Amino acid sequence: MHHLAIVGAGPAGFYTAEAAARRWNDAVQIDIIDALPAPFGLIRSGVAPDHQSIKAVARRYAQTAASPPVRFVGNVRVGLDVTLAELLELYDAVVLATGAPEDRPLGLPGEDLPNVFGSAAFVGWYNGHPAHAALKPDLSGRHAVVVGMGNVALDVARVLAKTPEEFAGADIVAHALDTLSASAISRITILGRRGPHQIAMTPKELGELLHLARASPHVDAADLPPAEDDAALEPGRRKSVALLRQFAREDGPGKPVRIAFDLFAAPVAFRGDTRVRQVEVERTRLEGDRAVGTGARYRVPADLVVTCTGYRSTALEGAPFDHQAGRFVNEGGRVAPGLYCVGWARRGPTGTIGTNRPDGEEVVERLETDGWRAGGARRGREGLDALVDARGIDAVTFDDWLRIDAAEVAAARPGAPREKFVSVAAMLQARTLLKEKTPRPPP
Ligand code: NAP
Repeated sequence: MHHLAIVGAGPAGFYTAEAAARRWNDAVQIDIIDALPAPFGLIRSGVAPDHQSIKAVARRYAQTAASPPVRFVGNVRVGLDVTLAELLELYDAVVLATGAPEDRPLGLPGEDLPNVFGSAAFVGWYNGHPAHAALKPDLSGRHAVVVGMGNVALDVARVLAKTPEEFAGADIVAHALDTLSASAISRITILGRRGPHQIAMTPKELGELLHLARASPHVDAADLPPAEDDAALEPGRRKSVALLRQFAREDGPGKPVRIAFDLFAAPVAFRGDTRVRQVEVERTRLEGDRAVGTGARYRVPADLVVTCTGYRSTALEGAPFDHQAGRFVNEGGRVAPGLYCVGWARRGPTGTIGTNRPDGEEVVERLETDGWRAGGARRGREGLDALVDARGIDAVTFDDWLRIDAAEVAAARPGAPREKFVSVAAMLQARTLLKEKTPRPPP
């Protein structure tokens, strides 16, 4: 029997478990260990609450979790409750699938002013991640600035722009829906340090801005390159640029909330007093593909700032970490003998949920060609259980999660899929209450 530990129950972790279960079947035991009692990582805490169709993939992960070789072990923090060194002693291989949950600071003056947030914190807030549920952004001002030209910037701008009614069917948490319902924001400026041809937003997501109830997108036609230059773009980006052109053409009085793209505009400082008031911006031009400052500066009003400029993984004692790149040092997923990484922990924060699938398959292939580490007879899950018990850790099983899940579904407001618990304590309490209610099977 091979013993495999996967750290992180997000997409990268589940695709790895699926591939390993398929390859070794009943010759492997796979433990997916997560710090939270709730599985699914980015699907639950990162994907926008109004993008429910993307979240449907969690059903596939649930099937993996229920498959015989696989076990979910929630509420166990690797690095705090158990160490990586202990896992490497217990399991034949350990795969780090911990994602990139931290904001990458821009390093600009004023970044620590109140009401300046990184997207990990802000998205975590509206998605009810326990680490960010208490964020309390102030949406009482008129001007929001979103920094970045990727899909996360789009998610944040769209969430800020939507009416409460447009969240029907979304699993946005109540505290965020209440705050957004009372929001006074009427201008959302998206700052992009490069131009239309360097946009990282994808067409489907960009197109959603055309269908918002009270908000419309605007692009300054002067920022657009000659139309014939679009022919050289790859098809996806060409479609995105075509949408930016449409936003520029349809630039009229529009709806009451304006989502304005400010391109060739790099933030250089955040200004304010008791909270942020303005973003100081430098006009840029392209040198090759790179944005360089022109020296021309201006200020954009900003009562709220969300920087959506990328994420970093969390370092873990015992695993070499590239602090510059914000991910584990690895060669094609290999970190050290018996230690691997997948997903954003391996590649950095790029690609879609589906990009993690070949990643999981690749690491399993690697494990096969490397061979399981010698010095067998490791104790695997039995050893983990002994450690967890000895330390009084309240580990959560997949059945426990299903109880928490049922309680969230039962608490949903009408039309919503669930009302998430936003603290670990509340999740554990729901699990215990429902466990007590479940009748024991007859002897
Ligand atoms: P991203 O696509 O890499 O975009 C990051 C943006 O931040 C880029 O526009 C980048 O500009 C800008 N940026 C970086 N450093 C900056 C700086 N110092 N100053 C100003 N701007 C800066 O990352 P993301 O939006 O965080 O998304 C992460 C991944 O998740 C992406 O692969 C994304 O497609 C995916 N995602 C997908 C969906 C979806 O499919 N619905 C939703 C959310 C996220 P430069 O290009 O100039 O570096």
